[in-house]
Amino acid sequence: MSARPELPAALPIGPQEPVEVPFWEGLRDGELRMQHCGGCDLWIWAPSWICPSCHAFDPPWRKVEPHGRVYSWTETFHAFPASQEFRDALPYVTALVELPQAGGRRLLGIVTGEAPVLIGTPVTAWVQPASELTGGWPVLRWTTDTEVTE
Ligand SMILES: [Zn+2]
Repeated sequence: MSARPELPAALPIGPQEPVEVPFWEGLRDGELRMQHCGGCDLWIWAPSWICPSCHAFDPPWRKVEPHGRVYSWTETFHAFPASQEFRDALPYVTALVELPQAGGRRLLGIVTGEAPVLIGTPVTAWVQPASELTGGWPVLRWTTDTEVTE
């Protein structure tokens, strides 16, 4: 169990296109949201105006249970010229997290927590509140901890 760390966010952050707004609104509400096409039962990530399978417009957004497992991961030990904002957070783990309850869609994110990160490690999403460090937007994070303290 560990406290939630304050980490920087990779910039740019926040909705880059209007179609992404519901995802960020979800984070502001403390929820993970993804699109789900009712026409063909497909979970969609990244956000899209159209279902890539049946071509229905405006697939609706649904809350997704914030649990997944690590599909792949990497650990960063050096700050690259384009990511100097992470210099004080080194080393950190970035994982591609698979969501079985959302059709196996995969999301990228930094993983915090005490347990080691391995392929298949169960992780839980948490939302780092918006701050100056995160460009004013909440950020989706993952943790290996089963219980997180403030
Ligand atoms: Zn569809």
